[in-house]
Amino acid sequence: MRTFFLFVFLHFSAVLLAQDRCITVGYLAGKQPGSPEAKAIAEQGQGKNNTQRQGNDDAVIRIPVVVHVLYNDATQNISETQVRSGIDALNRDFRRKAADTSNTPLRFRSIAADVQIEFYLATADPFGRSTNGIIRKQNSRIAWMADDKMKMAAQGGDNPWNSKSYLNIWVVNLAGGSGYASVPGCAPETDGVVIHYAAFGTLNTTAPFNMGRTVVHEVGHWLGLKHIWGDAECGDDGVDDTPQQGFFTKGCPSGFRSSCNNGTQGDMYMNFMDYTDDACMNLFTAGQRSRMRLQFAEGGWRASLLQSRGLSEPWMQQAALPAAAATLYPNPAQDKVTIQVGQFLIGKKLSLFNSQGLLQNVETITSTLHTLSLAGLKSGVYFLRGEDFLQKFVKL
Ligand SMILES: [Zn+2]
Repeated sequence: MRTFFLFVFLHFSAVLLAQDRCITVGYLAGKQPGSPEAKAIAEQGQGKNNTQRQGNDDAVIRIPVVVHVLYNDATQNISETQVRSGIDALNRDFRRKAADTSNTPLRFRSIAADVQIEFYLATADPFGRSTNGIIRKQNSRIAWMADDKMKMAAQGGDNPWNSKSYLNIWVVNLAGGSGYASVPGCAPETDGVVIHYAAFGTLNTTAPFNMGRTVVHEVGHWLGLKHIWGDAECGDDGVDDTPQQGFFTKGCPSGFRSSCNNGTQGDMYMNFMDYTDDACMNLFTAGQRSRMRLQFAEGGWRASLLQSRGLSEPWMQQAALPAAAATLYPNPAQDKVTIQVGQFLIGKKLSLFNSQGLLQNVETITSTLHTLSLAGLKSGVYFLRGEDFLQKFVKL
């Protein structure tokens, strides 16, 4: 039975990976009326006039990123190199540096934009400690739905780092699509983007989502962009310079296509906010650039990121081991010592060091009152170290 379910799940997610680029709309539709998300969705598409006034300066915006890799097996536990390839893909496309920008049709080249937003793995965590910006967590869940459980430690996921200071990206085996995003104004505790592990970055990824553009598209949503067709037949995406378009586009079309009487412009199916294959999308427009950068203007939903210390030098030393997590007696001791520890340390290692820091003995903690023999040890000062404590004692 277990094997059967495993097969169904793996098959399910592999098949859908080949079909559904983005499940953000379905995810947002599932939010309760009155929730922060519902409000955020209602406000999407507004502020069209604002985009003309603001968000047009040239300062490069740098965003600290933390990637939460949640895995069940080694394949899902993607390498640091693959994680970095995802960050590189963001910078490539948000700075319009991809080689395939030359595929942007001539009629759209004058509005194709360098968004001037850059992404970096965090160097300091929310406590100021050193980090490589990648968190790994193994769990028993084989696949995840677009229901935010991957963002909750209590559900086997991993809580976000403060979303006012970091872009949180969860890389998981996502069922139903290659990614989804929260939008500006969503609840801070579930803010961020979720990407299928085989669609993140440019290494070990699966076509047609193999060039890292799933995360480019989802971060577009996270910065306030709607889909190019406005999620309705000939809908409004709230951006002036994207042509009105009938529906989403799948696969890899070529040539001129027209819908909604969009005339000589035609459909912009190569926009990052369509559903086209990775190999066939290549631009954000100047209007989309303004809309995204507007999030960083004073009072904007993403403005707090400009004050983040996530890319600073770490300013805190790693926390010292607390001594109070264990009680040791007697001290001084003669032939044995007993250490009293919490239940959660049973099964964990206990290491004994001499005053020079040389390891004398390692054993496994078997009970909350664990007794250690000191037979054969010279008189002097010793240290007992467990997972979260360090205790000093004297052997007589
Ligand atoms: Zn989308």
